[in-house]
Amino acid sequence: MPETASRDSDETLLEGFLRDRDCPCPICQYNLRGLAGATCPECGSPPHLSLNSPNTRVGPFVLALAPLLMIGGVGVLLLIAIARHPQALSEGLQVPMAAGALSLLTAAWLLFRRTRFLCLSREAQSAAALAAWSAFLFACGWAASML
Ligand SMILES: [Zn+2]
Repeated sequence: MPETASRDSDETLLEGFLRDRDCPCPICQYNLRGLAGATCPECGSPPHLSLNSPNTRVGPFVLALAPLLMIGGVGVLLLIAIARHPQALSEGLQVPMAAGALSLLTAAWLLFRRTRFLCLSREAQSAAALAAWSAFLFACGWAASML
C-alpha cells in the first residue's frame, strides 16, 4: 500500500475510533473525542492508533533480568579477584562463582529469548521475576552466612 494511502487510512481509522469515545491526547490530555484531522487541536501532536498487548510491558522483564545480572556481576568480580590473586581460590568461592556463571547464562538466555518471555502471561512473567529475585535474595543470604 502506498504511504499516502496508508496515512489516509490510518487517519480515517483514528477519526472513526474517536468519533464516539472520550480519549485523552497522550501528550496534553486534551479530550480527542470527535477529532477531525490528524493532529491534536490543543498541542498539535499527531496521535495514531496502534495495536498493543499488556504483555509487552518491560517491567517484569527488567525485574527478572536485574537480579540475574547482579548475581552474575558478583561472580565476575570474584573471577577477577581470583585471577589477580590465584592463591585466594578456595572451595568456598567456587559456589558463588558457579552461581554467578549460572546467573549470567540465564540472563543471556533471557535476553536472547525475550520475545518468548514477552509472550508469557503477565502472571507467568511476574512469577519468573519473583523466582529471579528469590534466587538473588537466597544468594545474598548465603553470602551473608559465609561472612
Ligand atoms: Zn494534545
